[in-house]
Amino acid sequence: MYQNKRAAFYTLGCKLNFSETSTISRQLKSKGFIITDFDRVADLYVINTCSVTENANKNCRRIIRKAKEKSPNALIIVTGCYAQLKPKEITKIEGVDMVLGANDKFNIPNLLNNLNKKNKAEIHGCEIENLEYNSAYSLNDRTRSFLKIQDGCNYTCSYCTIPFARGKNRSDSIENIVANAKKIVNQGIKEIVITGVNIGTYDNKNKTFTNLIKELDKVKGVERYRISSIEPNLITDEMIDVVKNSKKFMPHFHIPLQSGSDLILGKMRRRYKTKLYLEKINNISKKIENVCIGADVIVGFPGETDEEFNKTLDFIRKLNLSYLHVFSYSERENTQAINLEGKVSKQVKSLRSKQLRILSEKLQRKFYEKNLNGNFKVLFENHNKDGMMFGFTENYIKVKTKYNHEICQTIKSVSLFNIENDGLMTAKFI
Ligand code: SF4
Repeated sequence: MYQNKRAAFYTLGCKLNFSETSTISRQLKSKGFIITDFDRVADLYVINTCSVTENANKNCRRIIRKAKEKSPNALIIVTGCYAQLKPKEITKIEGVDMVLGANDKFNIPNLLNNLNKKNKAEIHGCEIENLEYNSAYSLNDRTRSFLKIQDGCNYTCSYCTIPFARGKNRSDSIENIVANAKKIVNQGIKEIVITGVNIGTYDNKNKTFTNLIKELDKVKGVERYRISSIEPNLITDEMIDVVKNSKKFMPHFHIPLQSGSDLILGKMRRRYKTKLYLEKINNISKKIENVCIGADVIVGFPGETDEEFNKTLDFIRKLNLSYLHVFSYSERENTQAINLEGKVSKQVKSLRSKQLRILSEKLQRKFYEKNLNGNFKVLFENHNKDGMMFGFTENYIKVKTKYNHEICQTIKSVSLFNIENDGLMTAKFI
């Protein structure tokens, strides 16, 4: 029915959104659509939005305008977390034909009767109760794939809207996830990033996240797995041991900290305090040699005085972290945090972000220096940027070398010999 019709996609936000867009694009391809780039003429544009992005509305408008300029008669569908949270707001944006909530995100083929533009934007599938689980994995980047294992979250962090956008915790079966990992490998992809909203809460037929990674470890042909962000309170000794003893699970963890002040962690309703975080980091570092551990930190949460912020700085200096991802707190409607006292000004937030970014650079530099002259295996990517190409070691050190088409998507043994001015490492092939 849609032979020779063109569909284009735009994804905002996280790895999970990328895995889901890729899955929607395969659904449409199977209906006859030709998948094209977003900046090309198309008959259908699908925009997968994020609610964490600041200025979600502004971003959405900008992207829709771009699509409209290219193809004024194309059907425009908006889905994703922002669509789930603010469907009516999106229907007011000129050019939008359909807004799909979490319940109909994967239902586009059935909702498309034709590709004619609508007189009035329609809203579908925004009921958040009893959401189904939909498997997803990305195939657009030939080096790595984001494999979704779980969706939703039952936690109640006071600043977060994700549970409202993605519903309750639900997990795919181990059989399905393993089958998807095999499909990814069959496409020649070398690295799989295990992705979800709160992956440590994985639970399917009483199987835990550790049960899952043990099974994934057995899948033939996968060269590398990375575990995306995992809550510190959900990391177990057994899980660390699986990673330690596996040849496929990379020595790399990303563990959100958010604050180094117990007072602020309490206000955030996080499920751990600094003592537990420190124990987990020390335990991982003790067990896995040369491990890379990254952390997310939020600055400017209500009540974060200079004293509490300094606790974060001091705490991070005590930890064996290799990099930080720094976010400025921004208020979200319907969250508990919006009513908390002690708002922090924009200027103070930006100053604190800067301080943490400088600290992150120092941590990364220290980690890279520790690994200088070491021998590693690097998975090189396809991208050619000004004659250079990039890749990551097992422990997530970013390496650059002269572009050579032949080593794209391959794993090569290297010795790291220099840290360049841009902070990346250069390597000798061995
Ligand atoms: S763990 Fe907290 S921050 Fe993460 S998705 Fe769940 S509620 Fe949001």
